[in-house]
Amino acid sequence: MDLMEYQGKDLFRRHGVPTAPQGAIATTPEEAERLAADVGVPVMVKAQVLAGGRGKAGGVKYCPDAASARERAGDILGLEIKGHPVEKVLVEPASDIAQEYYLSVLYDRVSKGYKVIASVEGGVEIEEVNARTPERVIKRDIDPTKGLDRDAATEIVDAAGFPPEAREQTIDLLRTLYQGFVAADATLFEINPLILTEQGDVIALDSKVSIDGNALFRQEDLAQQQETGGGEPLEVEAKRKGLQYVKLDGDIGVMGNGAGLVMSTLDVVSEVGGRPANFLDAGGGASAESMAVGIEFVLSDPDVDVMLINIFGGITRCDDVARAVLGALEQIGDPRQTLVVRLDGTNAEEGRAMLEQAGNPKVVAGTGMIDAARQAVATIA
Ligand code: GDP
Ligand code: MG
Repeated sequence: MDLMEYQGKDLFRRHGVPTAPQGAIATTPEEAERLAADVGVPVMVKAQVLAGGRGKAGGVKYCPDAASARERAGDILGLEIKGHPVEKVLVEPASDIAQEYYLSVLYDRVSKGYKVIASVEGGVEIEEVNARTPERVIKRDIDPTKGLDRDAATEIVDAAGFPPEAREQTIDLLRTLYQGFVAADATLFEINPLILTEQGDVIALDSKVSIDGNALFRQEDLAQQQETGGGEPLEVEAKRKGLQYVKLDGDIGVMGNGAGLVMSTLDVVSEVGGRPANFLDAGGGASAESMAVGIEFVLSDPDVDVMLINIFGGITRCDDVARAVLGALEQIGDPRQTLVVRLDGTNAEEGRAMLEQAGNPKVVAGTGMIDAARQAVATIA
């Protein structure tokens, strides 16, 4: 789950990370004007969308007075940044920037641990800095069982070459940032830019925060902040329906039971020359009902030209799955797409027999995983 900049900064403040002066959210130009007067000009008016590079897209503007805050808010609220329409702007007292740095803590899937990344080249995309001058980007693995002590934080800040006037504050800030990251069950706490102000303070001027979705049950306050506006529309809808769904860019709809089986199915589809349209895990002990919801959902995707259902029956019985497939088709009426259904495991024979007896030309019983994938590819070739 991703937070917007203002939510991320609020989280930073709650964990004691020095952050830009508190602003407020406006949804209209008039509100932005009023807030600018309230928080004190000059202000920054900043688009709040779940996308980076807002500055480049014209979504971050300096406003010397309240009237200009209204005008700039009007411009920004009309923007669409990387496909996200801007519905909110942050109106925040402007900071005087002396230097811009980069600092982040993240969960690294490769090392399966935490990582700190630091650079004195901030305010620009860190990927670009890393490509151009990798030696300017310091990366350190952090053992989560040990945490980040003062020596480790100092080593990182010195290796990155933070200047003396920012060094001590950055060491403290990094340690606070790390503690907040762990406490919030985050997978990313990124500050770009971290700035040294003209007044000599090191503060977070921007935030990019992701929270581990699997921890939201114990991060209730954060879970409630979830913005529904962002993200792939089908994924937002899937979340509402409680489906484990990820949209992909192909044309073969996929559903299976168990995340591992679905991942393998995606691989197999690609292997035989097809392109999966989605990941959908109906769950290990999926009920016929939840399968029917999943089938209807995948078939509702206009990109899907054929659906491959790959079920290995265990707790889930294949005859129940067959019933779910036929039930879902009855619900939908006459779908545009063919369904290739591969059943194996508990009661597979019964399930296959049921599908055959139904005699629906839109349902093809697949034999084995690879053949089923080939059959799916063949229907759209
Ligand atoms: P991003 O483009 O989406 O990463 O948005 P940022 O919040 O990082 O803002 C982009 C750039 O705008 C920053 O790198 C700064 O150079 C500038 N900026 C943002 N806030 C302020 C501010 O308070 N004062 C000044 N002078 N510049 C700012
Ligand atoms: Mg930024």
